Amino acid sequence: MTLRGGYDVILAGRPDKTLSPMPDPDVLYLPLKSRRFHFADVRVKDGDAVGQGDTLATDPANFSVPLLAPRAGKVVYDPSAPCITLADLAKAPAKAKPADAAAQPPHVAPEMGDGGRNHYRLLSLGAWEYFCDAYTGALPDPFGACQAVIVSTVALEPFVARGDAQLGGRLLNFTRGLEHLQSLLEYQPIYLVMPDIHSQLATQVREQLRGYAWVRLVQIPPKYPFDNFSVLARHLGLKPAAGPVWCLRTEGVLAVDQALTGGKPCLARIVAIGGPPVSSPRHYEVLPGHPLADIAARAGLGSNIRLLDGGALTGKKVELSDTSGLDPACRGLTALTEQTDREFLGFVRPGADRRSYAACFLSTLRGKFSEKLTTGMRGEPRPCIGCNFCAEVCPAGILPYLIHKYLYADQIDEVVQARVDLCVECGLCSFVCPCKIELMQQFIDAKAVIAKEKAEAEAAAAKAAAAEEAAREAAAAAAAQESR
Ligand code: SF4
Ligand code: SF4
Repeated sequence: MTLRGGYDVILAGRPDKTLSPMPDPDVLYLPLKSRRFHFADVRVKDGDAVGQGDTLATDPANFSVPLLAPRAGKVVYDPSAPCITLADLAKAPAKAKPADAAAQPPHVAPEMGDGGRNHYRLLSLGAWEYFCDAYTGALPDPFGACQAVIVSTVALEPFVARGDAQLGGRLLNFTRGLEHLQSLLEYQPIYLVMPDIHSQLATQVREQLRGYAWVRLVQIPPKYPFDNFSVLARHLGLKPAAGPVWCLRTEGVLAVDQALTGGKPCLARIVAIGGPPVSSPRHYEVLPGHPLADIAARAGLGSNIRLLDGGALTGKKVELSDTSGLDPACRGLTALTEQTDREFLGFVRPGADRRSYAACFLSTLRGKFSEKLTTGMRGEPRPCIGCNFCAEVCPAGILPYLIHKYLYADQIDEVVQARVDLCVECGLCSFVCPCKIELMQQFIDAKAVIAKEKAEAEAAAAKAAAAEEAAREAAAAAAAQESR
């Protein structure tokens, strides 16, 4: 299947691949609800002293994926608070103690052998949380199987962490991580996605993996959102019905290596901090739970800034309270200047500094340039003008404006027929829409409503079938009684 749609999103404030360590703060605020997980099962209590890498809480709905202590410290925990606070942090990172090779959790059956132990080690050392399923985006079953693995070294949404920044000088760790991944599989292939399979990096990877036929290099054009795992899985012809497709990015492969080579947990994150108001956009090595206010201050951000957890197109707004800490699943922080004033006679400006998917500004004559995105530069939402831009860029091949029209008219059956389920939630339609309609959010909400209705209908059908079966059995019992 060929890749379709997409758009080259070029925004000012892109981090270069410089990686700087962020000094440890005095206190960490580890959120119990992250973008992917809800660590509802808290395993520590107020006043506990914990060691580096100890489990603070787990997510019971996601195979008990753990929230690990990034440093040794003292727990401050109030059950009504949205985070676990870690205070009195050890000043220097402890030498992580390797996991006990003989340790085996009770639920790993002995017959699972080394394979089962390795899966468990990935889960308990925090490496499994980097995995997701291509089609559902959910955490796959750590003890299950998959039809294929997709590893992407490409990150195309501004401003999430770039694969080359995360790789740094750790090519050997990366290829060793790929070998570990292969040991978890039986015969399934690993697709390694790169921007250029003839680059120096690709050549080095090929040389290190010489003889490993199971890794297949895949080149994609550097157009957003071709690095999206659902788009890649469809492009590679992997069907949802054939089973899960495990997906992970560069940092995930490095975490696999760290867990299975050294038996060490992955405690720090590499996060990109970018956007027009950031004085020096770059990548930082930072601990989960690092206070966001401190990160914002170090990035030179003043007041009147909106901070997004994630990229410029799909990031979620974060509140900068005194106790907001970095989400362990964060890949990048995007800063935008909050625009509160309406621009006087903005529509008569020739727009030499404004990029637009529609070639309607003077900027069309400038060729490629980085645009300074703010929260309000495209004005208020307006009704759809039927320009078709959303359909042109959509990588899923659906018609966003049509689904929007059906949703507006509350025609849910038509929304289902228009295949809203194929939406990969890349946000490109919302980005190019000249009327600023929040198409992606509408589709996310619609999919949730449809899934809920489907689950309710299935539960009602199962209940009716059970009642019918019970009535049939009662009738049969009565008939048997009568015949005696
Ligand atoms: S409809 Fe979904 S997949 Fe298509 S552009 Fe919009 S968000 Fe992306
Ligand atoms: S891009 Fe916006 S205005 Fe244009 S057709 Fe799509 S929804 Fe309508």
